[in-house]
Amino acid sequence: MDSEESHHRQEPHERSTGFGRDLRLGAQLELAGHEAAAFARALDRIPDDELDGDSLLPGWTRRHVIAHVASNAHALTRLLLWAETGVETVMCASPDQRNAEIERESMLSPDDLRGSYAESARRLEQAWRDLPKDRRMYPVRNGQGAMILVSDTVWMRTRELWVHAVDLNDGAGFREIPEAVLARLLGDIQRTWAARGEGGNLRLVATDAPGAALGAPDAEAPEIVSGTLADLTQWACGRGSAGVVSSEGEIPIAARWL
Ligand code: ZN
Repeated sequence: MDSEESHHRQEPHERSTGFGRDLRLGAQLELAGHEAAAFARALDRIPDDELDGDSLLPGWTRRHVIAHVASNAHALTRLLLWAETGVETVMCASPDQRNAEIERESMLSPDDLRGSYAESARRLEQAWRDLPKDRRMYPVRNGQGAMILVSDTVWMRTRELWVHAVDLNDGAGFREIPEAVLARLLGDIQRTWAARGEGGNLRLVATDAPGAALGAPDAEAPEIVSGTLADLTQWACGRGSAGVVSSEGEIPIAARWL
């Protein structure tokens, strides 16, 4: 993505999450590229027969996670096609169709499964590279039906890769995720909750990011949920509450965010 980065870097594309500055688009493309390669390396490390092992997602093997990540690349590539052609192309026709695609892909041979991921990642990177500069702010629809800018797909992919790399249950944890990614992800989740009217009394405090707090700005007696940024984000993603404490004692169950 080298030649594209210089263009992206010049574009103002920052939003506040409450946890410091967001990444610029060029840095996001770089992160997405690194993480796509890291995900491929993780797949190469997992022995063939361990692909059938459990992921951290209930009911899903590692195969399902890999197939899902490939399916996500296809879905985002469709959004880039939409932006490029102006012809509406949704991420997925229906949840049933997407689940069927994941089931089907998950049954590929180990080499084909890894190859399918690699091909999906290659096509998405190519689509980012091919997108004309004047189309980068084109409005498209995300998986929840909300309008976003097509440039947001870079961050969506980055987020997807990091979280599902942990879901592979291969030793990687949220602590391995760069702080800037964690901060933005936690900001996304908190905003999603706020937009849905959930977690209104929760104030999220990262103990390793002094002064950083999200949520419940006007609450008189907010419930304070705290932990390191990594542990807090892991909890907010619905992936366990290790390392997190609440001012109320019992740690609340994080509301869904996708
Ligand atoms: Zn996903």
